[in-house]
Amino acid sequence: MVKGSASGTYRCSFCGKTNLQVSRLIQGNGAYICDNCVRLCNEIIETEVKDSNAAANAALPKPKKIFATLEQYVIGQQEAKKTLAVAVYNHYKRIGQQKNRSAVELQKSNVLMIGPTGSGKTLLAQTLARILSVPLAVVDANALTEAGYVGNDVEDVLLSLLQSAGNDLEAAERGIIYIDEIDKIARKAGVNRDISGEGVQQALLKILEGSTVNISIPNPVHQQMQEMITINTRNILFICGGAFNDLDKVIEARTKGNAMGFGANISSKADKNSNALLKDVMPDDLLKYGLIPEFVGRLPIIVTLDALDEAALIEILTKPKNALIKQYQTLMEMDDAKLAFEDGALKEIAREALQRGTGARGLRSILERTMRDYMYEVPNVGESISVTITAEDVMLSREPTLKIENN
Ligand code: ADP
Repeated sequence: MVKGSASGTYRCSFCGKTNLQVSRLIQGNGAYICDNCVRLCNEIIETEVKDSNAAANAALPKPKKIFATLEQYVIGQQEAKKTLAVAVYNHYKRIGQQKNRSAVELQKSNVLMIGPTGSGKTLLAQTLARILSVPLAVVDANALTEAGYVGNDVEDVLLSLLQSAGNDLEAAERGIIYIDEIDKIARKAGVNRDISGEGVQQALLKILEGSTVNISIPNPVHQQMQEMITINTRNILFICGGAFNDLDKVIEARTKGNAMGFGANISSKADKNSNALLKDVMPDDLLKYGLIPEFVGRLPIIVTLDALDEAALIEILTKPKNALIKQYQTLMEMDDAKLAFEDGALKEIAREALQRGTGARGLRSILERTMRDYMYEVPNVGESISVTITAEDVMLSREPTLKIENN
């Protein structure tokens, strides 16, 4: 007890100064603290928060590092990679900053990715989650419905993130949720009561912004019983993706409209192809497409991806760290076979994938078809062999030609 003296003075329990030596002495439960000591304590706490922020920031890969790692897995899409690297870096910096209550509050910035099927949207989200070592849930907006309708509730999205985090709530609350086919929940023009579109957007709003949501999970001990847990979505990064077919027409109509009028440069925007048009996307275009304003407002970062051409598809086959060709070569090596592809074969695979119109998605099945007979025959040879795939192999699926190596 720091009781005062007979003269009625009181002492700070921390530094021992009396109320006559300091400007303020605050009384607590059986103790006193002076204004100097309060200031000192504040400084200590602030330094600690700064240090822990600095430590968290040091562990967080910088945008350039994130970009460089994305380069190892994703071909092309440079602009998307740069935007995502910055967005993700800022997102996790924001999480670190929250401990400092006096700092400016940084708002969450979810991301919208617009790009054709098979151009790498999901791959980008997957690679980002891997770089940052955070859990990722990939969900399909088509499967989502408003609460009360048949289908998955929006809360199920959080459940799948929690599952991908191995039921670690803290990790899940810093994870990434990729919602694919987001364009499919656009409000359809002329449909008044659209349960699958606008209702789902409304339901998603709540979790996109950041709120606490109760979800029921199976009890870890008694699986048949459910238990309620509360998950906070404030620090979950939402990346939404979609092909947004015909959005280019909406943009074209707007830009053409702007270009009308006396002396306007009519040819400039009207000549753009669909890819280039998409890069000019504005929130208003998304509203016209059928997304509701609040929903668009919660996706402030818009990233557009390019359609992949033949050259990009060939690179995808060969360049990435886990490129498909490298995977088949590894498989063949296990049977003592050296696998090579002639340039013509790679071109043919890319050409066929382009024809299918599903971007890089088609590559795997074309390769699987081409390689099937080889993978059937090679394990029986029992000697070192080399296998070279030609354009005819891809086109005609002909009998395998296996060459025994002399050495
Ligand atoms: P999306 O989500 O845009 O429809 P995905 O990311 O699911 O497409 O891609 C489908 C497949 O194609 C994946 O196996 C992925 O590895 C490959 N792929 C697509 N785009 C790229 C790319 N830009 N670079 C490397 N691989 C790609």
